[in-house]
Amino acid sequence: MSFTLHGIPVSRGIAIGRAYLIAPAALDVDHYLIEPAQIESEIERFRAAQQLVHHELDALRADLAADAPSEMGAFINVHSMILNDAMLVQETIDLIRTRRYNVEWALMEQVERLSRHFDDIEDEYLRERKADIEQVVERVLKALAGASGALVDGAHGACDEMIVVAHDIAPADMMQFKTQTFQGFVTDLGGRTSHTAIVARSLGIPAAVGVQHASALICQDDLIIVDGDHGIVIVDPAPIVLEEYSYRQSEEALEQRKLQRFKFSPTQTLCGTRIELCANIELPEDARAAVDSGAMGVGLFRTEFLFMNHKHSLPEEEEQFAAYRRAVELMNGMPVTIRTIDVGADKPLDSMSGGDGYETAANPALGLRAIRWSLSEPHMFLTQLRAILRASVFGKVKILIPMLAHAQEIDQTLDLIREAKCQLDDAGIGYDPNVQVGAMIEIPAAAIALPLFLKRLDFLSIGTNDLIQYTLAIDRADNSVAHLYDPLHPAVLHLIAFTLREAKRAGVPVSVCGEMAGDPALTGLLLGMGLTEFSMHPSQLLVVKQEVLRSHLKTLEKPVADVLASFEPEEVQAALQRVAQV
Ligand code: PEP
Ligand code: MG
Repeated sequence: MSFTLHGIPVSRGIAIGRAYLIAPAALDVDHYLIEPAQIESEIERFRAAQQLVHHELDALRADLAADAPSEMGAFINVHSMILNDAMLVQETIDLIRTRRYNVEWALMEQVERLSRHFDDIEDEYLRERKADIEQVVERVLKALAGASGALVDGAHGACDEMIVVAHDIAPADMMQFKTQTFQGFVTDLGGRTSHTAIVARSLGIPAAVGVQHASALICQDDLIIVDGDHGIVIVDPAPIVLEEYSYRQSEEALEQRKLQRFKFSPTQTLCGTRIELCANIELPEDARAAVDSGAMGVGLFRTEFLFMNHKHSLPEEEEQFAAYRRAVELMNGMPVTIRTIDVGADKPLDSMSGGDGYETAANPALGLRAIRWSLSEPHMFLTQLRAILRASVFGKVKILIPMLAHAQEIDQTLDLIREAKCQLDDAGIGYDPNVQVGAMIEIPAAAIALPLFLKRLDFLSIGTNDLIQYTLAIDRADNSVAHLYDPLHPAVLHLIAFTLREAKRAGVPVSVCGEMAGDPALTGLLLGMGLTEFSMHPSQLLVVKQEVLRSHLKTLEKPVADVLASFEPEEVQAALQRVAQV
């Protein structure tokens, strides 16, 4: 039976394919009592699954790339040990024998007992082993269900005709998809600028998030259409609908090919103003896509994704340095703006848990996030700063600091950058002494108190995703308030316009690197407000460039002034339409 689901469009285009459901195994387990005669065969089922996971871990160990971080091998060893541990194995078997729980139930019960026990442990390192146990149990449960332990396993039929359907995907898990080919994504949760959505967009494939109950209503292998332009998911479409969407898909592919003709032309408006279009990246290798798209540099390297795949510790200086150097070398002399770690809120790190109250923070988006966390961990922060500074020898590097609001935070940060330089001097290690330091303007207080920033920093970058979140007091990752997430709210537009105007007046370069920069419907508006530097995901670059090439700054002045003078939503929309028509 055909039916349609509605969600939030996050990555443009049309995808047609079969549903590939990713369910967290732990949420799905059956609970039932077995007959006494089934006890031994149930234990046998457990042993077989345990064996299978052993083979999986051995295969993972054997497949580790030579340059894989050394911790990877250690994690796999820890997981193998847990898989044999009596606390897990013997106790689970006892539950099967004494209570006659099916094995999945027994495992979940035992994990809960262990979790309670672990929560009481003082030692942070030991407490972190809880996550390892949960991951091992997850693997065993998947083995019992006949699925693979990996989130995505190419060997189990994932292929380029598949559309991933999940309740939610953590940003770190999303990174797995960078090496897999899928047609599209659908998730039950998420907002337009949640980090999961941003990574989905960075993969350049159609996606819809906040499609409530999608993972419950869509079955494995269902034929589905994802309309990433409108956030619509059509399940089991009628032939005529399928035909219509196939047609639209081929039209879009044609459109994309046509955009390629702009790739090598200079980016300037009809009146001759040069506009700089840069790329946002999450991993060093993404720099290739940046170069391919014709970007003039990297305007935002979200380094936290390097940290997120480190389950129990943060990467050492050498590993970070190698990653930053790689991105800088791939950009071949073009500037690379490296943002210091921005973790917290919807991008927690495993190593943040415990001790510091992060996990128990009532509102992590307002808590120890981004620079606040870095300043609370000066050792970690200095390590990152040294690694970034060292990479500056290999090209043009800029340092960008997220979430600054207070003068003393800026001063403390600049002091630490000076200290990192002194440490490198003492060790006789080279760096660019003139490396520029900039701030993200993403908290309303920062925009309003702009002189604090203009006086202290070399450049600014407006992070519209967070600026909208904090101006309108809505969680950008929460789909229940997604309808209130409005880039065109007059308060947001005024903060952006004010920042652009004041920075220009002070002669401080300013860019926009939030998702607004990559939305072609807003290009004219931003140009009219005076923006000359945009940074966006590479997949958006050519479509934004097309808008720049057809714009004339003088004719944008009046309609953009009208947008800024409007407060009623209809008036803002009407004025915006006039911006599009000039
Ligand atoms: C932003 O907030 O606009 C931004 C670019 O940073 P992030 O999306 O990583 O928070
Ligand atoms: Mg931000």
